[in-house]
Amino acid sequence: MSEDRIIIVGAGIVGLACADFLAAESHNVCVIDPDHEGDKASYGNAAGIAVTECIPASSPGVFWKVPGWLLDPLGPLALRWSHAPALMPWFLRFSQVCRSEEMNRISAALADLNGRTYDDLLPMLERNGLSSELKRLGALTVYETDEAFKKDKWEWDLKRRHGIECQELSGPQARELEPALSKIVQRAVFTPQWSQVSEPRKLHNRMMKNLRDKGVQMLKGKAIAVQIQEASATVMLQGGGSVSGAMAVVAAGAWSKPLAASIGDRVLLESERGYNTTLPHPGIDVTREIIFAERKFVATPIDSGLRIGGAAEFGGLTSAPNMKRADALLDLARAYLPGLVEEAGVQWSGHRPATPDSLPVIGHSPRSRRLIYAFGHGHLGLTQSATTGRLVADIIANRDTSIDLAPFSIQRF
Ligand SMILES: Cc1cc2nc3c(=O)[nH]c(=O)nc-3n(C[C@H](O)[C@H](O)[C@H](O)COP(=O)(O)OP(=O)(O)OC[C@H]3O[C@@H](n4cnc5c(N)ncnc54)[C@H](O)[C@@H]3O)c2cc1C
Repeated sequence: MSEDRIIIVGAGIVGLACADFLAAESHNVCVIDPDHEGDKASYGNAAGIAVTECIPASSPGVFWKVPGWLLDPLGPLALRWSHAPALMPWFLRFSQVCRSEEMNRISAALADLNGRTYDDLLPMLERNGLSSELKRLGALTVYETDEAFKKDKWEWDLKRRHGIECQELSGPQARELEPALSKIVQRAVFTPQWSQVSEPRKLHNRMMKNLRDKGVQMLKGKAIAVQIQEASATVMLQGGGSVSGAMAVVAAGAWSKPLAASIGDRVLLESERGYNTTLPHPGIDVTREIIFAERKFVATPIDSGLRIGGAAEFGGLTSAPNMKRADALLDLARAYLPGLVEEAGVQWSGHRPATPDSLPVIGHSPRSRRLIYAFGHGHLGLTQSATTGRLVADIIANRDTSIDLAPFSIQRF
């Protein structure tokens, strides 16, 4: 056993960010994953550094739309009915979040966390020679109707209260920013603080290579349990092996729940599967990420093409993807982006690690300071990865953290 080793379980962007901040402080780090180069959420996401997103998924308006969405076979929300009994405790907690005092508490915590993004992301990108991969172009949220825009007004007002800059635009003003948009767009909001990376997969692969070069050990293996001893932490691997060190960090995205359960920590965590299609030659120019407010999907120009995606499907981690959802999102995009060339589109789906309150789990286990959690980032794992890495490094060094971690504790479950 290497006595000072810090073991990170999971090589998604959150695990790698934790490794990066710890390696920068000369810790002895080992990252365990069954498939380091696997095609998980951190590879195929929409590339947005969505610092403006501080409203939980279970906002008051959303809850009453759920039944209608579930009845639409290719709508923005789907449930595999065989998974419904297992989902029930998660869903009950989700339904409680839209109470106004909960909403305010959660959005303040999200704004706190997102507010740190650039302080932590810029140094992480710089350390990895990736600074030029960040495009600070803002994002455009577009509306088909004035009515829908007015219904969302409370969200924009709440964001403004958290220091988010929101510029309201008419349809023609939106088309000045993004001429590819059709006349269907009546209203828009420009959020200049939003940014994006040029290609999530490139960010992930480059960080993995740099960490290896810096001596971080990348160990192939599937963790099945964590055990804590008085002076060490041990990660048990499928097939019989184990890895021990001074501390363990669970950062296995949507797969983290059984690892927390293995030492008796309960968490409500579900896979919220998303879908997208990347069009390598889209035939139109889109400059920045566009969010289609009513239809709940996004289009982001990245190095490999125009990525059009969204959807939230609750079906557990083992159900097969339904790629018709990716097709349905392309169908929606046609009305907004005329002239879209769909040839050679590459479809993808991945599991967002979703908590019912939209807050990630960051902090140590109540059972031992040798076990730290860093998972459950839902729609914002790329955005919050660097700050999570910074916070984990601060916890391990026993430093004061830049934000209050109480809202992110696993004890809330
Ligand atoms: C369609 C879509 C669009 C998105 N768009 C955005 C966006 O624009 N901006 C944004 O900020 N976020 C976005 N997200 C969310 C973001 O991608 C995720 O929150 C983030 O990638 C989660 O990172 P992670 O490292 O926690 O998990 P993952 O990327 O899922 O990585 C988890 C890792 O743990 C490993 N693992 C699993 N089980 C074990 C085990 N037992 N032992 C060891 N290792 C294990 C897996 O192999 C994997 O490598 C999007 C997600 C989706 C699906």
